[in-house]
Amino acid sequence: MKGIAILGATGSIGVSTLDVLSRYPEDYRVVALTANRDARRLFEQCVQFRPDYAVLIDEQAGKEFSAWLQDADLPTELLMGKENLDKVTALSNVDYVMAAIVGAAGLLPTLAAARASKRILLANKESLVMSGKLLLDEVHANSAELLPIDSEHNAIFQCMPTNFTEGLEQTGVTRILLTASGGPFRTTALEQLQHVTPEQACAHPNWDMGRKISVDSATMMNKGLEVIEACWLFNTTPDKVQVVLHPQSVVHSMVQYTDGSVLAQLGNPDMRTPIAHALAWPQRIHSGVEPLDIFDVARLDFEQPDMTRFRCLALAYEAMQQGGTAPTILNAANEVAVDSFLGNELSFINIAKVIDATLNAIEIRAADSLDVILDADRIAREKALQSIGTINA
Ligand code: NAD
Ligand code: MG
Repeated sequence: MKGIAILGATGSIGVSTLDVLSRYPEDYRVVALTANRDARRLFEQCVQFRPDYAVLIDEQAGKEFSAWLQDADLPTELLMGKENLDKVTALSNVDYVMAAIVGAAGLLPTLAAARASKRILLANKESLVMSGKLLLDEVHANSAELLPIDSEHNAIFQCMPTNFTEGLEQTGVTRILLTASGGPFRTTALEQLQHVTPEQACAHPNWDMGRKISVDSATMMNKGLEVIEACWLFNTTPDKVQVVLHPQSVVHSMVQYTDGSVLAQLGNPDMRTPIAHALAWPQRIHSGVEPLDIFDVARLDFEQPDMTRFRCLALAYEAMQQGGTAPTILNAANEVAVDSFLGNELSFINIAKVIDATLNAIEIRAADSLDVILDADRIAREKALQSIGTINA
């Protein structure tokens, strides 16, 4: 029986994780569930899974939850505040931590899980983008495990040789082919893009996800963050990671080998597959996902991405090539710009402009300590807000 803490339980990944876990009550026990402010959903999850702890960040949400808890017959203790995210990840009866908080808020609890030597199921790609080296150092120093949940990275992991950590070249890998659907605006006329609304941007053709990652998919910053994520996870450089537009989202990524082989992982676009894979690895379990009907899919298309249309993707490649705190700044500026777009305060095409301006305004430093990284994140958020003010003036 493995104990599991789910950070970001009420989000899209959290809900899919609980769906998989609900099929295996004998094998996994939910020890802790956390959320930012969705008290209602968190409470319903607690009724179903009866964890030891529930964590909420938002105070008002905590009050509501607490009132319901008084009238319920639950073994659950409510903890308030973000320090408790670190606390529940480090509990001795937690073996696995699902890191599924969105954005930079996921960094510290993910680091805490690494320090506590847990198996980390990593959905929160932003933590690797912000501080890849630091997070991996903590994983190695504490013999933690890091398994990718992002569907592409999970696919790559499945296609990699088992000894890939010895180095891609040494193990015969020449390139990673990272697939991308291209999002809802792959073929939209460029002049239309300045008028798109948050609702249009969040209507992803193949995946049902949280709002931030949906906008990231529409700008293709999501793929940019994933290029950086792949470099850290598979110890490689951005020139070895080729983004491939693949509108059907059936091939979740590929690995190219020196002998001419290309290995791919295919499946229906449903996050329960990578979640079940990482939960059971190295075993395999049912995930609840429909088997892929290859005749129904019938065709698979692959195209080169247009770097002018998807300026955010180009910015992410540049930031990773620059190294140091550049990816941290890129990530922070993107979070601020996306938030502003979702609040109808910034147009879709200006998201890339804000990120570009922020990267140009800040000196890049070596990302060698958590303080430097958190500082870069904070300054980038300030600069990004200033840049939004200037663009909108
Ligand atoms: P979501 O918005 O649906 O859920 C986010 C969760 O994080 C919620 O439970 C929310 O309460 C919690 N949260 C938000 N802000 C918080 C804060 N400041 N402190 C603590 N908790 C906070 O997001 P999602 O789509 O589930 O994505 C989660 C992560 O997984 C993201 O990093 C995303 O990039 C990654 N991911 C998601 C998918 C997907 O299909 N949804 C696929 C690959 C990777
Ligand atoms: Mg992905």
